[in-house]
Order: sequence, then C-alpha cells, then structure tokens
Amino acid sequence: MEKKKIYVLACGGTIAGRAASADDLTGYAAGQTSIDELLEAVPKLADYADVQGEQFCNIDSSDMTEALWLSLANRVQEIADREDVDGIVITHGTDTMEETAYFLDLTVHTIKPVVLTGSMRPATAISADGPLNLLEAVQAASWTDLGKYGVAIVMNSTVHSARFVEKTDTTHVDTFKGRQMGCLGYMQDGRPRLYQQPLRKHTWSSDLAAPKELPAVAVVYAYVGLTADDVRHLAEGKAGLVLAGLGHGKMPEPVWQALQPLMEQGLVVVRAARALGGMVTQVPAYDGTVTADSLTPQKAKILLQLALAHTTDREKIQAIFDAY
Ligand code: ASP
Repeated sequence: MEKKKIYVLACGGTIAGRAASADDLTGYAAGQTSIDELLEAVPKLADYADVQGEQFCNIDSSDMTEALWLSLANRVQEIADREDVDGIVITHGTDTMEETAYFLDLTVHTIKPVVLTGSMRPATAISADGPLNLLEAVQAASWTDLGKYGVAIVMNSTVHSARFVEKTDTTHVDTFKGRQMGCLGYMQDGRPRLYQQPLRKHTWSSDLAAPKELPAVAVVYAYVGLTADDVRHLAEGKAGLVLAGLGHGKMPEPVWQALQPLMEQGLVVVRAARALGGMVTQVPAYDGTVTADSLTPQKAKILLQLALAHTTDREKIQAIFDAY
C-alpha cells in the first residue's frame, strides 16, 4: 500500500524538552529540540508514512497565545487543503493541548486527520514517552477515517476527541482522559481501533471560522469569598465572561447582582461548572445567561469567543453551545 503523506507541525512542549539528567522528570525546559531532531529520533516513522516537518513555534505551551492560535489555524488549513498532504500531526505541550485541539476542531474545515500529540516526559528522560506518541500520532494521521471524527489527541496509545479530552494529571503519562464520555479508542498494531464517535459539530461540519482577532472573554472561578468587585474587575473591557460555577453553574448572590447590569450593557455570561462532570443547563434563576452544556470552562471560553465573532444574540449563542 502506498505510504500516506503526513505533515508534522512542531509547536514545542515537553516532547521537545531537555533536562540535565535522565532522572529529571520535572525540572526541564520545554521547547528545546527542533522538528528535525524530533523526526530523526524516530526512524520508524519512515516505515509508516512519508513525513515532512515544519517548526511552527518552539514554546512551553503555557506560553501559547490567541494570536498564535489564529496563525496556527490558518497554517493547518493551508496544509490540509494541499492535495499532496493526507494528514497532519501537531506536536504541542500538554498543558494547553486540549485548548489548542478544540480551537482547531472548531476552526479548521477539513475531513483529513488532524492529530495533536506531545509527551509528559522530556526527550532526555528514562522511558521518554515522546517517540512512541509521535509514531502513533503519525500512524493515526495516516488512517483516513480518523478525519471523520474531528481533531484528535493521540497520547499514551489512546485516541481522544478534542471536544471531550482533558489533562487530568500534572505529571503521569496517562494524563489525558475523556472523563465524561471516554475516549474514541486505542492505538493497536499501528492503527486506531475506535469504539465511539463525537456527535457534536467539528472540523468539516463546523460553521465557525477563525476571525482576524478573538473577542476578549475572561473566565472567573467561583468559590466561597468571590466578590462582586472581583467579577466587575474581570469583566471590564470584555465581550463575554465564562463562569466556572458552583454546582450546576451557580454563583454567590452578590456576584449575580453585579453581573445583571453588565449583561444589560451587552456582556454575554456563560455558566459552566467547576465540578468534574455533568452539564450546566438553563434555570429561571439565571435568566439571560448562556449555558455551557458539558464543556469545561476553558473550552467554553473558546466557543464563546468564536460565537461572539459571529453574533452577539444570546439565543443564537446558546444554539451554538447546544450544537458544538
Ligand atoms: N509545560 C509543558 C508544556 O505544556 C508540559 C508538557 O508538554 O507536557 O509545554
């Protein structure tokens, strides 16, 4: 069978990280190794695909920015539109990988596989997980059917949907989980074996486009002691606010009193939850807010930014949250 042409865009992260000693798993610098070095370290890639690499950036993913997201989405779209590319792999730090993956899931319109991968241990570590993750990401991107299910994260031999995946552990290699809905499947014998598919809109079925600039949206985490002033301060100059709310998206009453006049002036408030599972849905007590469904606050923020770039109508924004 003819080998697939896979384009690898490197963004940095621990997969490109180096430490002074092989037993140092935390005190390393991310984003040190170039794409050429990453590819050379895994000669097996050539058995599965014709791989071409490009250094997009080389950063710790804590330094990912919205401006970089916008140019990454453009670059991924350009590459996906090329006839001589069958699939795309993006190497990326794990700290914000789920956010970048979801941003691309909403804004890149393609049915070709787009796979993000990285590692939890630096390239210099004993039992570094990067080389196998990279190999399996390339194998996954070579499997044409994967593109039907939107942007995927392939780490630790597991295939995740960008919509549902979360980083759940600060250091362990099995950090990525689809805590609520599970994973799409596993990597086995060189290709994905999938068991589920996401039904929310993504990539080829998404009508959302990346704007020139993302509207400003903040996330506020609810806790005992959060004040009206804290929230007013955070909302200043913002088009939207996502609440990582208590329970079913609740907040202290003074905070709600402070938000209502801001909403009348146009601020769009999305209620998400700080709880580790479940949905947030409409209740009369919080009339006028948008609900985040099962999206985590950090992903609700991305969807709100893209929704606000299309419309400021609350009902239309709610319809977007119900569909994506
Ligand atoms: N701090 C690193 C990053 O996100 C962590 C990792 O890649 O695992 O770039």
